[in-house]
Amino acid sequence: MAVDGPSGSGKSSTSKGVAKALGLRYLDTGAMYRALTWWFMDQRADTTDSGAVAANAGRPRLEVSTDPDDPWTRVDGRDVSEEIRTREVSQQVSLVSRVPAVRERLIALQRGIIAGAEPGIVAEGRDIGTVVAPDAVLKVFLTADSDARARRRAAERGAEVDTTEADQARRDRLDAAQSAKADDAVLLDATDLTLDEVIQKIATLARERSALACTGDAGAR
Ligand code: C5P
Repeated sequence: MAVDGPSGSGKSSTSKGVAKALGLRYLDTGAMYRALTWWFMDQRADTTDSGAVAANAGRPRLEVSTDPDDPWTRVDGRDVSEEIRTREVSQQVSLVSRVPAVRERLIALQRGIIAGAEPGIVAEGRDIGTVVAPDAVLKVFLTADSDARARRRAAERGAEVDTTEADQARRDRLDAAQSAKADDAVLLDATDLTLDEVIQKIATLARERSALACTGDAGAR
């Protein structure tokens, strides 16, 4: 299952909740872009130098957990789950994620993880429904108005709402080329819904889709 949407739309909490409700694995593809960005920053590399980013994108070993109850991210064996969430990483990640060699490597890793996931997986990001897993049984594009997204993120991080909203707007702009709603994705606006309501809606859609898929209705895919 694919869950895409802009930063702060609640994709991570939603996707984890849906995975737990349905007994599926969970993949946070944003964490992989963050992990690579953290590695470049740790190397004191210039992330605006896309040639150098492309040339070195294959160097660090990246590992992510697919357990929705225990998601972690490791770079060369080091747990960086906390480090990748800093404002500094958030501000530089779009510079790294826009580099084609980076996307090529991470998309290949993501497809491998998705293909090996039993009994299935909820993958969240920006391009899951369009590029990484266009055959997903269910695609959701989760959105919320920018004020609601900023308030949610600021509360999580203990940050200012205004600064968070400005950071998000900048990142959405930089990520626009990589983010798209698939034509066959269900658009879900979470502005006026609680997290539980969003999880329940998606879980219900997923159950309906897999029931239809089991009856051989190809239109349900
Ligand atoms: O989802 P999250 O905000 O953690 O994603 C961090 C960044 O990773 C995004 O701002 C975007 O630059 C990049 N990303 C991407 N494609 C994905 C997931 C994330 O380019 N599928």
